[in-house]
Amino acid sequence: MDFSTPIENIPRVGPVMRKRLRTLGIKTVLDLLFYFPSRYEDFSNLIPISDVKINEVCTVQGRILEIKTTRTWKRKMFITEAIIEDKTGAIKSTWFGQPYLSKILKKDDPVFISGKVVVGNNEAYLSNPIYEKTYSQADDIETINSNKLTHTGRIIPIYSEAKGLSSRWLRSNLKFILASSNGKLPETLPEKIIAEQKLLDINRALWEIHFPSSFEKVGKAKERFSFEELFYIELFVLRERAKLNKEKAHSIPFNLDLIKELVSLLPFRLTDGQRKSAYQILKDIEKSRPMNRLLQGDVGSGKTVVAAIAALNAIKAGRQAAFMAPTEILAKQHFQEIAKLLGNFNLNIGLLTGKQDQFRSKKLKNDIVEISRKKLLEKTLKAEIDILIGTHALIQDKVKFGKLGLVILDEQHRFGVEQRAKLVRGSKLIPHLLSMTATPIPRTLALTIYGDLDLSLIDELPKGRKKIITEVVEPEDRTKTYGFIKREVENGRQIFVICPRIEKPDAEKEYLSGWSEAKAVKEEYEKLSKTIFPALKVGILHGKMTSKEKEKTMLDFKNKKIQILVSTSVVEVGIDVPNATVMMIEGAERFGLAQLHQFRGRVGRGEYQSYCLLFTDSSSQKTKQRLKALITCENGFQLAEKDLEIRGPGDFSGTRQWGIPDLMMDSLKDIRLVEKTREIAKEILIEDPYLKKYPILQAKISRFRESIHME
Ligand code: ADP
Ligand code: MG
Repeated sequence: MDFSTPIENIPRVGPVMRKRLRTLGIKTVLDLLFYFPSRYEDFSNLIPISDVKINEVCTVQGRILEIKTTRTWKRKMFITEAIIEDKTGAIKSTWFGQPYLSKILKKDDPVFISGKVVVGNNEAYLSNPIYEKTYSQADDIETINSNKLTHTGRIIPIYSEAKGLSSRWLRSNLKFILASSNGKLPETLPEKIIAEQKLLDINRALWEIHFPSSFEKVGKAKERFSFEELFYIELFVLRERAKLNKEKAHSIPFNLDLIKELVSLLPFRLTDGQRKSAYQILKDIEKSRPMNRLLQGDVGSGKTVVAAIAALNAIKAGRQAAFMAPTEILAKQHFQEIAKLLGNFNLNIGLLTGKQDQFRSKKLKNDIVEISRKKLLEKTLKAEIDILIGTHALIQDKVKFGKLGLVILDEQHRFGVEQRAKLVRGSKLIPHLLSMTATPIPRTLALTIYGDLDLSLIDELPKGRKKIITEVVEPEDRTKTYGFIKREVENGRQIFVICPRIEKPDAEKEYLSGWSEAKAVKEEYEKLSKTIFPALKVGILHGKMTSKEKEKTMLDFKNKKIQILVSTSVVEVGIDVPNATVMMIEGAERFGLAQLHQFRGRVGRGEYQSYCLLFTDSSSQKTKQRLKALITCENGFQLAEKDLEIRGPGDFSGTRQWGIPDLMMDSLKDIRLVEKTREIAKEILIEDPYLKKYPILQAKISRFRESIHME
């Protein structure tokens, strides 16, 4: 069998099923094989009918004595009842709302029935059991080979289903493919590793993950696939790192006097975390191989100044710095901040954003001049611009640096090695890379997907910041909360209101996604500005506005022309408004903890007591648990670990692009496995740096490379 065969080529998959399978992302036979169960049901307790016990899950085998479907009087519900008999006795099976069953199951049919025995109307019956017709002549339970069974009498897989695509259907077809005689996949891991690590081979593992012989074997199968995924990631990351280590960069000497001067001019004392990080960076860019470093620091921990220190050192050593921000608003803010921090050092600072009329150059003291894009690019090429700050615009073809020595990326996980390569087209020397993030990355992730980066950590906030009071607000306290907000505004403070999305989705989407009470930002804006706070100045900010509009709104908020800003997650990163004291978040369950923490970081930046108020329509345990974590925990790193525990790492930026299947997400929590795969990947690369002996591994790794390009 060719596993890349489109799924519709297997029997029983017609155009309708094909379409349904697509909704689960299944296009080929291989995709189907790798569509893993989300959980299992244990029906392996196969017993004579005389042995069934109330409230126990079991499987019985027998013949159908009689079967009939009736309709209840009051609720007009179909009830199908069958009596199953074996040598030891008989028991009733009852199905609700499945009238077609009496067409499938007929009197005298031999069946297996799995389910829970309950009591109702003074009799015991199997409630909504799963059935399986068999034509086995064996009456003796002992002689039945449970591998013949697909839906009953064993541990059965339950899949996340799509409309019209049931676990039953998936089980039958997976069984068919796995059992077909030529259905053997070539092994993807080196045999040596399989033997040494005692892993299941690929076909055995596929069989065990779909039709396990025991729960222990499920574990073994998961272990094999987790191992494999992590192993590829580690190989990829380690090889990228090895490549980078061979590259050359300009060594930028550590100019201690210069740095001392800058530090003495700052309006505050650096925290130890800032000092340590700055030192690590400055030592790293002294080397003649390119730095590849991640600077992690919670919201408000002061990463910008650390970047500014590195930039100044690079500039005074005769190089240029590029500083890339995720949005125009932030690029502007950085432009102003850097201009302020480095105001005494006679630098030319450029701001390059998307639109023609927004290119400016900062010259000398507070002299901001607008220049044309063409001029700015010329100056950048001639190295007359010392730092060029901007958005993605920085990596366009037209932007060329004369003497680029340092690239700083703010909150752009997706950018890295590849983007740096774009910035230095043609040059033999590669600039140093400093990537900054407030999104805390748990240790296992740091070792895997970010494993090619060195890490600097700012693990404390500047002293004297007031603790932000975080609360989950019950729906009945909403009015009270609005009253509180009004008082804050009357006292001169400002408020953020965050909503999850822009527009109300159409009914079907809303239904499918389960986002029933989505607080659309526009609706919320209307409500707050017209009904709740008609006397206050309410503004709106969302991603569909032009950057000019967004910028004007942000500016109005900063200048207190807007008192309440209703916004989508656009405000997420970096916006600095010290007068804002309340962060109110609607639909809080939709956001990751790390993201909520980011929102919270938008307040509490000034001298006033600040609040983070969380609203949610969800009453699920998981939501409660997550939001509670936010209340008790102020540390972004711990929150990230918690989110990983509760939700799985899919919500961390960067993991999705690796296409790690959900089941494998678990493996990222397993530090032991992460470390082991890393060791083994290292060994393989030492033995065979270009993986010449391992064409399959090579192919797998290029798959990662492609998926990064796609982002
Ligand atoms: P982030 O790490 O979130 O990017 P910023 O660099 O924007 O944080 O810094 C947040 C605020 O804290 C800025 O107003 C900055 O001037 C200030 N700041 C930075 N370092 C210190 C410090 N050591 N002491 C006091 N304030 C500081
Ligand atoms: Mg920042």
